[in-house]
Amino acid sequence: NTKPVAPATSRNATLFERAQKLIPGGVNSPVRAFKAVGGTPRFIQRAQGAYFWDADGQRYIDYIGSWGPMILGHGHPAVVEAVQKAVLEGFSYGAPTEREVELAEEIVKLVPSIEMVRLVSSGTEATMSVIRLARGATGRSKIIKFEGCYHGHSDALLVKAGSGLATFGSPTSAGVPPEVVQHTLVLEYNHIAQLEEAFSLHGRDIACLMIEPIAGNMNFVRASVPFIKRCRELCTQYDALLVFDEVMTGFRVALGGAQSVYAQSIPGFKPDMTALGKVIGGGMPMAAFGGTRAVMEHLAPLGGVYQAGTLSGNPVATACGLATLREIQKPDFYDALGARTRSLVAGLTQAATHAGVPFCGDSEGGMFGFFLLGTLPQNYPQVMKTDSPAFNRFFHAMLDSGVYYAPALYEAGFVSAAHTAEDIEATVEAATRFFAGR
Ligand code: PMP
Repeated sequence: NTKPVAPATSRNATLFERAQKLIPGGVNSPVRAFKAVGGTPRFIQRAQGAYFWDADGQRYIDYIGSWGPMILGHGHPAVVEAVQKAVLEGFSYGAPTEREVELAEEIVKLVPSIEMVRLVSSGTEATMSVIRLARGATGRSKIIKFEGCYHGHSDALLVKAGSGLATFGSPTSAGVPPEVVQHTLVLEYNHIAQLEEAFSLHGRDIACLMIEPIAGNMNFVRASVPFIKRCRELCTQYDALLVFDEVMTGFRVALGGAQSVYAQSIPGFKPDMTALGKVIGGGMPMAAFGGTRAVMEHLAPLGGVYQAGTLSGNPVATACGLATLREIQKPDFYDALGARTRSLVAGLTQAATHAGVPFCGDSEGGMFGFFLLGTLPQNYPQVMKTDSPAFNRFFHAMLDSGVYYAPALYEAGFVSAAHTAEDIEATVEAATRFFAGR
């Protein structure tokens, strides 16, 4: 399990060659290509619980969990059963179903700020649709986003974004015309004075402020409580909508999402709108956006803001999402998940510190991040100070030991309910060997 893949006989290498001839970069989403860390991407054949296996038969402890959705681990029996049953009833109808109503009821029950919700198929659609809705509902054009926050790949939001864009060193995509993003104000994360200035200059033109409350696309950076509090106050004062992009954090950091975490420190705290994705689909293409009834009623067919989707509320995806949401509501689910994730971060920190390597990490629920730095960064420029060659060496040493972390230093990691204490121990042992041998 600790041997690197032999390239000459590697099916991963052969598949990567075939893939690169037909698919740009050999992948259908950029960060999968290992471009930042180098080496051959692993082509995954199957997954179960906390593990997946590549085309060469190598097993990995999976800390990406499909980049967030697989909170129960892979192949949870209750979810598999629900999906199999749904498949037999048909793949897609293009007409409403009972399961969509049930899923909406679950979401509204679990996230108190959401009074109405619409299902879509990807996080990109959710955030893109929220922006249109916020503009339609307020009659304003400007939006605020923060440097290092990634909200999917729609034009207006693809400015100074994190994740794959950070990895490839071009924070703003080519092909996004300046006119399209002229209404997007990009501010520094956790910078209260800059936020206040932006509102005092443009407050009455701002339709919404969109934020990743715990940013997972510049590794793992929390918005401070005073910063979120100020976001809420300014949005209220200027009648702009506060939008939480919880595509990653929703049902991941807590049952009520990051907003429930901030509500513990800010009494009565609620965003106006929320984008959800990843966990609500349990690994099937599914996302959602929702918020106050007053705003949501601007959506077609009730209102003038158009939004639609052939596969929206897909019956198989809703079955998968519903079964997942039922499992995560079991008693102590998040206590156990949070404790396991903290034990991973603590173990890694201890292994590095013992070897005299600067290291720090943070986690909330089943989401974590770590930096080869002495103190936790508060914003994107600070994240960019991380030593990426050192991360790349760490990544490959762990991969060769059968531990699969996100292949880029700008990504958060994920622990699932299927990860055992032994999995964490094996991971920390591999890290200890790496730090000791540096
Ligand atoms: N928002 C956030 C916070 C995300 O992390 C992501 C995806 N990683 C998206 C939006 C976009 O979601 P999708 O990839 O499903 O389009």
